[in-house]
Amino acid sequence: MDAVSIARCSDYSAAQVQRAVHDALTPLGGMSAFVSEGQRVFIKPNLLSKAEPERAVTTHPEVLRAVIREVRACSPASVSVGDSPGGRHSATSIRGVWDACGLTAVCAEEGADLVLLDDDVVRVPNPSGSALYAYFNLGRAVVDTDVLIDLPKFKTHGFMMFTGAVKNCFGCIPGLEKAQFHLKVPDRDDFGEMLVDLMLACAPKLAIMDAVVGMEGEGPAGGTPKHIGAVLASAGCVELDVVASAIAGFDPMEVYTNKAAVGRGLGPKTADEVDVHGTPWRELVPDTFERPTRDLSRGMPPWLGRFARRVITSKPCLERRNECTGCATCKVNCPVSAITMVDHRPSFDYDKCIRCYCCQELCPPQVIGLKTPWLVRTLVASGRGRRA
Ligand code: SF4
Ligand code: SF4
Repeated sequence: MDAVSIARCSDYSAAQVQRAVHDALTPLGGMSAFVSEGQRVFIKPNLLSKAEPERAVTTHPEVLRAVIREVRACSPASVSVGDSPGGRHSATSIRGVWDACGLTAVCAEEGADLVLLDDDVVRVPNPSGSALYAYFNLGRAVVDTDVLIDLPKFKTHGFMMFTGAVKNCFGCIPGLEKAQFHLKVPDRDDFGEMLVDLMLACAPKLAIMDAVVGMEGEGPAGGTPKHIGAVLASAGCVELDVVASAIAGFDPMEVYTNKAAVGRGLGPKTADEVDVHGTPWRELVPDTFERPTRDLSRGMPPWLGRFARRVITSKPCLERRNECTGCATCKVNCPVSAITMVDHRPSFDYDKCIRCYCCQELCPPQVIGLKTPWLVRTLVASGRGRRA
């Protein structure tokens, strides 16, 4: 089992973040334990959408800067950075995401190449996976690198409950193909299994999580920034996610990716079983932490779960009609065509909707909310502030 190292980091000043990243890596042997001279290194932050760093949707550019500097000190042959944001993008719109997230400036200043993952795709077989995804199409930069460094953001996730190092690999799949996975694999447990297969196919050598300011509530895009004050690092994506989700107050087995990975013997069930260096994880647990809406259909047989999901799971809805720009990003990214545009505003067909929340994640002005049944609201309220 891989150790997890935690370093405190109170804010995003460059000096603080650099020290925290360095301190988090030191107990793991430093960056030189992962990167050797002359190797090609690819760094994969979370760039979900066009969002400024202070919204806590994406990996903060100062964390990326600190990691690039640690990598550069190991004399690699090349350092490149990339991610495929959710939704349909052109090269121009992806550059707009890089600009908004602060990556363009950091990569230019630190001499790292920003690469478009959607442009050049390689088919990678997935022998352990289901027939639904016997292979993954991955950006060539992910496949051709010697060292993949995974840079997730500490966030809740409406579909998977929590998103960390395992889920961050989803951005190695190009553009709209990501939404198609929600159609092929609509069940949350199955989706967690698929993400573990994908993480194994991508094989990150190191994961460094930006948990300086995370996200609570209806993440990964519509939640609220939450100060956690740390950088976490590990060679093990699963161990990192188990510890991070415990800091957020989850039983790590509530998180679908953790459950799938632990079921295969890839990690421990609890954070207390992980060898943690640096700051004890319990010291970072906030007094309150708002969870995403729970899925009460979990554990039911698939036929009953499908029915229950329609009845008791939150539905997407247009919350702030006046602020909707009519861009149709929600419609384009719905994997089951459950959205039609009526008078330039989305209209949802809840019989078709599989509750994947791609529309909510990807709406640029974040005007799609989740309508939650009262029973679920009550249960969620009772879960707030819970410590692991
Ligand atoms: S309407 Fe939204 S939540 Fe429902 S299936 Fe489409 S994208 Fe997913
Ligand atoms: S709800 Fe959001 S994504 Fe959909 S049309 Fe309006 S602004 Fe665009």
